[in-house]
Formats: sequence, structure tokens, C-alpha cells
Amino acid sequence: MKLKNSPSLVPSLFSCRCPKCRKGSLFVPFNFKRLGSLFTMNPVCQACGQTFEPEPGFYFGAMFISYAMNTALFILVWVIYSYLTSNFSIVTLLILMGIASILLLPIFFRLSRTIWIYIFIRFDSKAKAD
Ligand SMILES: [Zn+2]
Repeated sequence: MKLKNSPSLVPSLFSCRCPKCRKGSLFVPFNFKRLGSLFTMNPVCQACGQTFEPEPGFYFGAMFISYAMNTALFILVWVIYSYLTSNFSIVTLLILMGIASILLLPIFFRLSRTIWIYIFIRFDSKAKAD
């Protein structure tokens, strides 16, 4: 059942919103002068106060989600490369996989952490700052 005015799960997940209120951002805004900002999380939600690191090492499990995403990426790169080329080279394939995984690293990092926290923290339509 969809509650009125409640943000939907999928758009909230892909825009890395707080799992509890789906309004606050999980990550700090990206700044071109600080590339590390791609990987920096807000400690708590600005909208509802939910902590984004419920316990030390919480995001260790996000590694498994990232692993699955990279496996899917490698299969996709392999299929596309095999389809487009007539003289298949394993070295070229590995280089293409490396480039693809480096380019998508910030997206996979953010998405895997977001999916991981969405598994453990449920949406609360009444969530707000105390
Ligand atoms: Zn929140």
C-alpha cells in the first residue's frame, strides 16, 4: 500500500536518500575540488536524524553487493566486447573491464551502501527530527 506523499522506494534508493524518511541525503554533495567527496557519507540524516552508521563496520556487507554489481558489469562488458569484435583478445577484455569498473566505482560504491542500509532500516512515514 502506497501512502499519500510518501517518496517511492526505487527513486529514493537510486538518488541515495535516507532509508527512514527518504528525504535527507546519505552522501555529501559531490565537489570537483575534493574527489574524496564522492565517497563521503553524512553521519546522520539532516531531515530525520537517523544515523547512517548504526554500528562500527556496518558497511562491510555492502562489499558483497558491490561484488555482485561488478560481476554483472564484467559479464556485460564481456558480452558487448565479444559481440563487437572479430579478433577476441583476453588482454583487451581485461583492460576494458578495468576501465569500466574504475569509471563506475563511485556509482557502485554509493549504490551498494545505499542498498545495504535499505535492507536494515525500514521506511517510516512519520520520521522527523527530534
Ligand atoms: Zn532521514
